[in-house]
Amino acid sequence: LPEYAFIGRSNVGKSSLINMLTGRKSLAKTSGKPGKTQLINHFLINKNWHLVDLPGYGYARVSKTAKKTFQKFITEYFSKRLQMVCAFVLVDIRHKPQNIDLDFMQWLGENGIPFCIIFTKADKLKPMAIEKHVEDYKTILLETWEDMPNYFITSSSKSIGKDDVLHYIDELNNSVNT
Ligand code: GDP
Repeated sequence: LPEYAFIGRSNVGKSSLINMLTGRKSLAKTSGKPGKTQLINHFLINKNWHLVDLPGYGYARVSKTAKKTFQKFITEYFSKRLQMVCAFVLVDIRHKPQNIDLDFMQWLGENGIPFCIIFTKADKLKPMAIEKHVEDYKTILLETWEDMPNYFITSSSKSIGKDDVLHYIDELNNSVNT
């Protein structure tokens, strides 16, 4: 089955987003504490695709060894999963573009891994500020990319963006199947 990976910095709102998309509150546990998602979790959605919950990156206080282990883990995941259709990189809409996220997108691009951006926590900003932050991202990404990657603006607490993401995945599933 086609699968879609969800990844982002710890505390970006990944568990909340996955709960919103799956509608299954109990599966991905959210917490204020960073570092809850330790291992890969698979969710079977509509019996026709898998949502893959990858560990968060960018913990401030982990050792170099832990960072290396994480990199190896992620590299192995992406090199082995031929059924992986698209990675969704989550970024907090409130923050200016951060190197850790930009570097990760760069790495995905260099390795030919398709990805989209999911902006999270959109309820925390006014529409004008959202636009400005997205523009900042575009400016930076267009320095290295020919086009802005597809992106989605979401809020798990206000249930924004759910249908957009799910429809996009449905479309990709259809193009994979045909
Ligand atoms: P994870 O570590 O990336 O899985 O992040 P979580 O889903 O556990 O969320 C981290 C924190 O951000 C929690 O305190 C959530 O309540 C909060 N959060 C997550 N999504 C949203 C959102 O859409 N809006 C707001 N206002 N807070 C959110």
